[in-house]
Amino acid sequence: MLDTRGVLAVVCTRALRMGENRRVPVTPTFPEATPRASDGLDAVCAAAVPAAQAAARDVADPGTVGEHLGAVAEGQRVVTHFFACTAKGYRGWRWSVSVARAPRARHATVSEVVLIPGPESVLPPVWVPWAERIAPGDLGAADALPYRADDPYLEAGFAPATDGDTTGGEALGWELGLGRARVLSPEGRDAAATRWYLGDRGPAAAEAVNATAACTSCGYWLPLAGGLRQLFGVCANEWSPSDGRVVSLDHGCGAHSETDVERPEPQALPVPVLDETVHEAVVLAPRTAAPAVAEAPVEGGAPVEDTPDENATPQP
Ligand code: SF4
Repeated sequence: MLDTRGVLAVVCTRALRMGENRRVPVTPTFPEATPRASDGLDAVCAAAVPAAQAAARDVADPGTVGEHLGAVAEGQRVVTHFFACTAKGYRGWRWSVSVARAPRARHATVSEVVLIPGPESVLPPVWVPWAERIAPGDLGAADALPYRADDPYLEAGFAPATDGDTTGGEALGWELGLGRARVLSPEGRDAAATRWYLGDRGPAAAEAVNATAACTSCGYWLPLAGGLRQLFGVCANEWSPSDGRVVSLDHGCGAHSETDVERPEPQALPVPVLDETVHEAVVLAPRTAAPAVAEAPVEGGAPVEDTPDENATPQP
C-alpha cells in the first residue's frame, strides 16, 4: 500500500504479470471548499494560501500553477494546500504545499512542495518486478534468469537408492548419465512438445505444407532421446531452414534428402538472324590525340618504310 500523507491511497493486492496491469485505484480526498477554522485547520496555516502558492511557483515551470483547490490538516499547526497543475501532460496533477507554524508563532512557513497525482491523472502501470515481467524471448546474451525452486516444468533428476542415502542416489544419477539436480517433468515435456508441434517446425509450417516428403523419411533427421523421440528430432541439413532446430516427424521442407526436382532437357536455341536491312547509329566518344613519339634515329641511313602486309585484307 502506498499512502501519500493521507491524500492518495494506492492498493495493490498482488503483483501482476506483464500485460495484466489494471488501472490503479485511487481514493481522492481533496476538499472542494475553501478551508475554514471550523474544519479543524489551523487558522494561520489555512490562511497562508499566497505563501504556499508562491512556493509552488518557485519550483514549477512558469505559468503552470493554477487555482487553489483546497487544504487538509496534516496535524496540529500543519496544513497542506493544493493547487491545480496546468502543465501539458499533467492532467489532474496537483501541487501540494505543506505549511506549518511553530507554537505561538503568527506566521506559517513552507515545509514541502511536491507534485502529486489526482483521480484524473494519467499514471504508469503498477511496477512489476523484472523476474515476473520477463517473457520468453526477452533474455539477452548477458542476462541470467533468477533460480526458480518451484518450477513446475522441472523435477528432481535422481532419487535416493535407499532411504536417506542421497549420496548413492546421486551416484546412480551419474551412472545413468543424468548428473543433473533437476530434469524435465512430465508437465514440462508436455508443454515443450505442444509448443514445438504447434510452432513453426511442426506440420502446419509453410515449408511443411509445401514439402513433398516429411522429415520421418529424411536422412538428415536425428531423433531425440527419451520419450520425445517418438515425435521429434533435430534437422541436421545445412541447406534446410530448420537446420539445428527441433522438427516434428510430420514436418518437412524442400531440402529433404530423398526428393528431387524435375530436370527438363535443355532446348536448342534457334540460329541467330543477322538483320542487314537497317543500321543503327552509334555515338562514339571523340578520339583524343595520341601523344607525339620521337622517332629514333636509324643506324646507317634513312628510315625504312613500312612494308605492306601480304596477308592483309584489301580495304574498299
Ligand atoms: S532437411 Fe527438411 S525434411 Fe529433412 S529433416 Fe530437415 S527439415 Fe526435415
